[in-house]
Amino acid sequence: MDFQDYQGVWVFIEVNEGVVAPVSLELLGAGRMLADKRGGELAGVLIGDNVGHLSKTIFEYGADVAYVYDDPIFKHYRTESFMKALLDCSQKHKPEIILYGATSTGKDLASAVATDLPTGLTADTTELDVEEDTGLLLASRPAFGGNIMATILCKKYRPQMATVRAKVIKALSPEVGRAGRVVEESISLKEADIRTKVLEIVKETTRKVRMDEADIIVAGGKGLGSAEGFQLVHELAETLNGAVGASRDVVEAGWIEHAHQVGQTGVTVTPKIYIAIGISGAIQHIVGMKNSGLIIAINKDPEAPIFASCHYGIVGDAFEIVPMLIEQFKQVMSREGVSHV
Ligand SMILES: Cc1cc2nc3c(=O)[nH]c(=O)nc-3n(C[C@H](O)[C@H](O)[C@H](O)COP(=O)(O)OP(=O)(O)OC[C@H]3O[C@@H](n4cnc5c(N)ncnc54)[C@H](O)[C@@H]3O)c2cc1C
Repeated sequence: MDFQDYQGVWVFIEVNEGVVAPVSLELLGAGRMLADKRGGELAGVLIGDNVGHLSKTIFEYGADVAYVYDDPIFKHYRTESFMKALLDCSQKHKPEIILYGATSTGKDLASAVATDLPTGLTADTTELDVEEDTGLLLASRPAFGGNIMATILCKKYRPQMATVRAKVIKALSPEVGRAGRVVEESISLKEADIRTKVLEIVKETTRKVRMDEADIIVAGGKGLGSAEGFQLVHELAETLNGAVGASRDVVEAGWIEHAHQVGQTGVTVTPKIYIAIGISGAIQHIVGMKNSGLIIAINKDPEAPIFASCHYGIVGDAFEIVPMLIEQFKQVMSREGVSHV
């Protein structure tokens, strides 16, 4: 493998309901930094149905080139079809680095591409850098229960690939009108070649605000005792127009879906306010929320580790404190005539 043949940094651009996913815009920011250090180009790979116009967005967020696979066959994400397009593009144009959001789609696609290329893949990265002279990607992530940061290298294969968590890197401010080069690509792929069919899309019927969009997250832990006790977390979140988060133990108990798990094996969140109720504060949880603007913890154990990681701590029983908070917030909000804090 001649590394000289591999040039440039790519970002797989995830598109949901016709809109570029925020994590892809964040990765263009990281990709721009890596490409500048290497003196190379930054490209976005757009795969979908009617996605060509999104090139404009990715140029404004830092890309120089857009490789576009625009075809009805890519209407829905399917591992096989997207993998084939990305493999085709990668084999033709040979990037040095490919970044994907560590979303369900990004993780699925990156691992499939890594297997087929074949190359290495660093999963769930939280920091990225590159050695300017060698082009070696320095992909760092928490390891050994979050106690250390490990920097993982892919020395023998190209491209180097990483999935990167949402919200760990800031997107660049868009430069309106910034232009780039569009490269239209296609592969010969028929519906009959793809083993999976999308029969129906069932949207999660949810009363919840999404964690990645919320200014306030109210998260609950095993201290709430049961799924019924956990309803208090929903109530406070709803009062504040916030999202609901959870510890892993709560997810494992089946009180809420995994999408709400905060931490090392869940999502990383950075809301303005994070309220942790009945969460002990294990390091695996803390790594997922420690960059929140203001952290408030409620725990009946004054020695709970969470108190070492919060700005304000309330020692007491959640079942006494949380109903009082809900009541007080409701009163203040109706007095001030606001629908959320
Ligand atoms: C490889 C690995 C990955 C992991 N990934 C994650 C992850 O992504 N996210 C995550 O959260 N965890 C993760 N964990 C698990 C983590 O180590 C902890 O076990 C978990 O976070 C504990 O959940 P908890 O705080 O809800 O429960 P507990 O540790 O049982 O804590 C419950 C807390 O509630 C308090 N409490 C009890 N009753 C009340 C009450 N009435 N009022 C107020 N407080 C009360 C208790 O004092 C206690 O502090 C991971 C572990 C491993 C090994």
